[in-house]
Amino acid sequence: MGWAPATSTNYSVRLPDNAAPAYCAITSSGVDKGSIEVEHILAIDQQGKPIDAEGVQPSAETPLHLLLYRAMGAGAVLHTHSLSAALLSQLARDEGQVRLTGWELLKGLRGIDTHEAEISLPVFPNSQDMQALSSHVEQSLSKERACYGFLLAGHGLYVWGKDLSEAKRHLEVLEYLLQCQREVTRHGHPANS
Ligand SMILES: [Zn+2]
Repeated sequence: MGWAPATSTNYSVRLPDNAAPAYCAITSSGVDKGSIEVEHILAIDQQGKPIDAEGVQPSAETPLHLLLYRAMGAGAVLHTHSLSAALLSQLARDEGQVRLTGWELLKGLRGIDTHEAEISLPVFPNSQDMQALSSHVEQSLSKERACYGFLLAGHGLYVWGKDLSEAKRHLEVLEYLLQCQREVTRHGHPANS
């Protein structure tokens, strides 16, 4: 879908409690996700330390995944670098959110049954300091009601769900809605004002 250019993006799932100290399985750093193999997925503990991994490091963005398990009760976390997410988050950096309303596909999000619903994706400034960024996001997200994802400005989209299939559904919904919004923004539709 063009959502994972070069070696960008990362994906994880929460492991069952009886797998402790393994906490979640996450993609390794620096791998082209178009040619990912099972050895590029590793188990990490709650601090993000690899368990029995040989020569692979977890994604640099692991702290953001861990915070979503901790703070949002996620069962799976998916992070993409689509053009729409990078572009719209950059444009909305000062506003601090991208609002989405009026689209039928909103109903693909858990708990939404009408196109008239409005959701907001918070936009956070991008950073290479993942610890600082994750604590900033964690503090802000706990105040968000029914939050389905967030954007990092000029960077990409984070989405989660209670399990991998819900996270994938939410990802496809939000990427589609961001594409709609991107076209509306480009063509200056009044609904964007
Ligand atoms: Zn990223």
